[in-house]
Amino acid sequence: MNKFIFVSGGVCSRLGKGVAASSLGALLESRGLNVRMVKCDPYINVDAGTMSPYQHGEVYVTDDGAETDLDLGNYARFTGSPLSRANSITTGQVYDSVIRKEREGRYLGRCVQVIPHITDEIKARILAVAREDPDNDIVIVEIGGTVGDIESIPFLEAARQMIHESGKDNAISVHLTLIPEVAGGELKTKPTQHSVKAMQEMGIQPDVLICRAPVMLDEPTRRKIALFTNVDPDAVFTSYDVDTTIYEIPIVFFDQKLDQVVLKKMGVESRHANIKPWNAVMDKFAARTGRVRIGIVGKYMELHDAYKSVYEALFHAGLECGVEVELVKIDSSRLEEAENADTVLGAGNAANGGDTVHGENTLQGILVPGGFGQRGINGMVKASEWARKNKVPYFGICLGMQIMVIDWGRNVLGWEDADSSEFNQDCKHPVVSLLEEQVDVKNYGGTMRLGKSETAAEPGTHILAAYGEKHIFERHRHRYEFSNKYRNEMTGSGLKIAAYTPDGSLVECVEWPDHPWGLGVQFHPEFKSKPTAAAPLFRDFIAAARDVRAKSAQEVISGQ
Ligand code: GLN
Repeated sequence: MNKFIFVSGGVCSRLGKGVAASSLGALLESRGLNVRMVKCDPYINVDAGTMSPYQHGEVYVTDDGAETDLDLGNYARFTGSPLSRANSITTGQVYDSVIRKEREGRYLGRCVQVIPHITDEIKARILAVAREDPDNDIVIVEIGGTVGDIESIPFLEAARQMIHESGKDNAISVHLTLIPEVAGGELKTKPTQHSVKAMQEMGIQPDVLICRAPVMLDEPTRRKIALFTNVDPDAVFTSYDVDTTIYEIPIVFFDQKLDQVVLKKMGVESRHANIKPWNAVMDKFAARTGRVRIGIVGKYMELHDAYKSVYEALFHAGLECGVEVELVKIDSSRLEEAENADTVLGAGNAANGGDTVHGENTLQGILVPGGFGQRGINGMVKASEWARKNKVPYFGICLGMQIMVIDWGRNVLGWEDADSSEFNQDCKHPVVSLLEEQVDVKNYGGTMRLGKSETAAEPGTHILAAYGEKHIFERHRHRYEFSNKYRNEMTGSGLKIAAYTPDGSLVECVEWPDHPWGLGVQFHPEFKSKPTAAAPLFRDFIAAARDVRAKSAQEVISGQ
């Protein structure tokens, strides 16, 4: 069976369309259906790889090395849908391939137009995902942007055609809107009415409405919305604001029977739902005791989405370790300016209550996430040195591992100018540098070491303990590497190389000696973390931070 659910949004952006689509996917999977998730992005960029994290948030990387929109991260956290290059469709890709075909003469002299050529290309790509596996049941296609945007018209038109061609049983429209609250606490339905009208103008009658509202909509409001929009009253749902976590949304929808209504509309016989895993997540959420404070030292601190998967993975790790993870976002340029890292990270930091390094309010862990470009690098190196010397758990991801290597070069080996050749091409000690084959690369899109590859963990290391398995498969997204020229000096002075590529040619993980948990990896474990199964390294990092907290509490009690 190949059925399609098109999820669109109205009124305004950032209503949580990705979470709503993913939660619906999770519920359909809980009924034993095979679900695939697809994101259509109306922007003209071919992929998210070259976009600034400031403007667009994180770049999510798939196993096959596609640099995609962060919504694919939501799909990965909520559903088991396999995700690859094919699951992320952008206007850039669609036009690129139509224009190539035109140049190859494949349109046989016809005039190439938005309808049917662009829409055909969109449809072909969605169908390709549906047909990847004969066992696929349902493809959920999330259309980025808001109805009414010029950019999303071809995608909505493709959806209209597919709904028309496949028949009502095989394709439906789920539309997400906003129900704002005006002064006096009144909920207003007018923007939703207009948004559905905009969909109808596109030739699409929404079958299901999900209304984003501060509270659960009451029956009269649902009936009113239904009356104005031609949607059945029992197909008007509320995505109300939860004060717990986004992982409660599948349960919020399940309680309202969203999955049952959707399946009935598509003529799919309803099977028994198993939502135990989602209830278990909420049980773990409620059972957390105490918190650990983790300092994230990076450069895109203002926008939460810039390190989205990292923050989610920390949350998952907290669920698994039974603690709340408090994120303390530290702009690394602040550290760069500070005379002493302690004033920002530890003792004497007013924001930390002026505590000692292991005091109740100070940081129990430092995480340096991935990043590009020179700004703030020296601040990150200071954070690494501080965590190393004060024995505070440290987790370096990609750039964060390279920072550990630079810190070791500068502060242990005494090479003042140790650096990455990304930041200083002429330094005498480029402890992190380009691979030969990358030296002449001029094109920035998709030319890095990207996607899934194997890492082999060494015996007696934290990384091996975390995975419980020598063969590790994680995703990469970087250009620079630990410079092999310095391997002997690095290990000779105590830095542990804890994992390599299977042929031993590249360093994948370094660990600090004589330290509770100081580890950096060249790959990105955050992409595979789920609320139902935290990524092993995140879990062990948070467990180490929790132990630091317990130890310092013990020290306070015993008056040390
Ligand atoms: N800028 C570094 C590199 O290209 C690190 C990349 C990253 O952290 N994703 O190697």
